[in-house]
Amino acid sequence: MSTQRVLIVEDEEKIAGLLRDYLQQAGYDTHWIARGDKVVDWVKSNRPDIVLLDIMLPGKDGLSICREIRAFSNVPVIVVTARVEEIDRLLGLELGADDYVCKPFSAREIVARVKAILRRVGEPSIEEAGNYRGLHIDAERFEASVDGVALELTPVEFRVLALLARSPGRVYSRDALIDSMYLDGRVVSDRTVDSHVKNLRKKLVAATGDDAWIRSIYGVGYRID
Ligand code: CA
Repeated sequence: MSTQRVLIVEDEEKIAGLLRDYLQQAGYDTHWIARGDKVVDWVKSNRPDIVLLDIMLPGKDGLSICREIRAFSNVPVIVVTARVEEIDRLLGLELGADDYVCKPFSAREIVARVKAILRRVGEPSIEEAGNYRGLHIDAERFEASVDGVALELTPVEFRVLALLARSPGRVYSRDALIDSMYLDGRVVSDRTVDSHVKNLRKKLVAATGDDAWIRSIYGVGYRID
């Protein structure tokens, strides 16, 4: 496998340098962009494997950048914010980011998250392709479709759908979903899970006009119907 490239979007040179050093030490190629208005074009023409995205940036803010990237790419995005209270608001905005990290962060932790996400994305291991109610999941290509209509899913949404579709009708707890979303055993809030499921549900409804796909079972978790 060729070296994977991490795009670091960060206007503070010291932080960017720290991330670059740690990521390079971990074996990744890195590219650093300090201005928000330079990011989307660069991603379009260079196709990084993952993006670390600061929110407060000169030129264009990280939220707009994330939305614009999602319009054409499923590249994993880790949003970095300066305030922990901000994370709830960001989740509500449904940016399509795969993870959120709060400043100040340890560079080591960021590297761990980058690794975990890239391992997940690169891994063609989500069982065999499922086929249920016209739902087709191709784990090799990380693609999902319903009746031939492609679903544009983030890697996290894809994993959630793949897990639920493995046993239609079976209820999966939020913990089980977290395990499938994040292989590094990390703890995230129920709200994070709910937010990803909500986005996934929305995409299924948009593709099929049918809102009876994912049922939430109060106090327990989710199942696909
Ligand atoms: Ca900043």
